[in-house]
Amino acid sequence: MEVSSILQLKKVTKKYPSASIPAVDEVSLTLKQGELLGLLGPSGCGKTTLLRIVAGFEKISQGEVELAGKLICDRYCNTPPEKRNTGMVFQDYALFPHLTVADNIAFGLKGKKSFGRLSSKDIKYRIGEVLNLVGLSGLEKRYPHELSGGQQQRVALARALAPRPALILLDEPLSNLDVQVRHRLREEIRRILKAAGISAIFVTHDREEALAISDQIAVMRDGKLEQVGTPEEIYTKPGSRFVAEFVTQANFLTAKREGELWKTEIGEVDLKSLLATQQEDGLNLIDRAEVMLRQEDIILTPDCNSSVVVKERQFLGREYRYCLETASGKRLHARTNISNAVDVGTNVNLSMIQAKPLIFPFANLNKNKVTI
Ligand code: ADP
Ligand code: MG
Repeated sequence: MEVSSILQLKKVTKKYPSASIPAVDEVSLTLKQGELLGLLGPSGCGKTTLLRIVAGFEKISQGEVELAGKLICDRYCNTPPEKRNTGMVFQDYALFPHLTVADNIAFGLKGKKSFGRLSSKDIKYRIGEVLNLVGLSGLEKRYPHELSGGQQQRVALARALAPRPALILLDEPLSNLDVQVRHRLREEIRRILKAAGISAIFVTHDREEALAISDQIAVMRDGKLEQVGTPEEIYTKPGSRFVAEFVTQANFLTAKREGELWKTEIGEVDLKSLLATQQEDGLNLIDRAEVMLRQEDIILTPDCNSSVVVKERQFLGREYRYCLETASGKRLHARTNISNAVDVGTNVNLSMIQAKPLIFPFANLNKNKVTI
């Protein structure tokens, strides 16, 4: 194991006795010290199970997990959660309602062996430190019901951080909050984790949240890791049709190969213009595929000879979102700057900002259906 990695999963598999397929299927992953990993995927893909494996709440069927260079579980051994030096933050905060903020945090400290000999003065000092870190100084004596949802989640984060764990695990921590608090707190959580210099896994089914908060994103699907990369890599170079659809919400058009061209109903793509890696993916060998069109890459130009029609237009403040219909009845979505207003009912020609379109093999289509 490299010095710089804090967590290493090697072909980790978990099959619940009642299930026919594994909830987590041969997942291998390395988390570097201080890194914030976003674990992203649709509901039911195995995110919580994977997090619970790392925390020690689930035994694994196969594979190995190493934390800070030590084997913590394989098929035979399983270090109990309290000896793993991980902290957890849940969607529903899980604070003790009858304890004050300070006592909730102290509970986390007293529960940890490494803090067993802390004096009450030291505990009070550490509580003050973590409350300052999460921006809640002065609220020590409040009870959870006297706090907003966002504040309660900050307390839960403070409680998890207080014993200085090697790794923090957050399971959809923002999903219960309303959208404005969620946006503010996701910036805050990143700032807090970075200020604490701690490594973390942040589970979410929300692609925007994952893109905004993570150093690295691991995209999961049906228990398997589909792709791992920086937010920019995942967004600009999705490794599969599933990642492309789930992360970017792009449009896909079926394309037929004719010589050096991929022909779609609204235009064609020259095979030579594809990314080199895509050509190596065996696209040369097939004659049906799907071209990815990002909503923000489409340029609309009114053209009465075009068979694409603007069906709907939504004003979103900073941009318009268009729903377009092609001659075959296929619906496409486009987002444009508000200076480019095209009326509903207009026939439009579509062109692309992006110089290098992405193409995915057609055969994967059914397997790749996204459910959220
Ligand atoms: P996610 O957090 O991504 O929504 P989960 O890890 O909760 O996904 O679930 C992954 C799969 O494992 C789902 O199909 C779910 O129904 C199943 N599952 C989760 N927990 C259990 C359990 N205790 N027993 C049996 N199946 C489970
Ligand atoms: Mg879950």
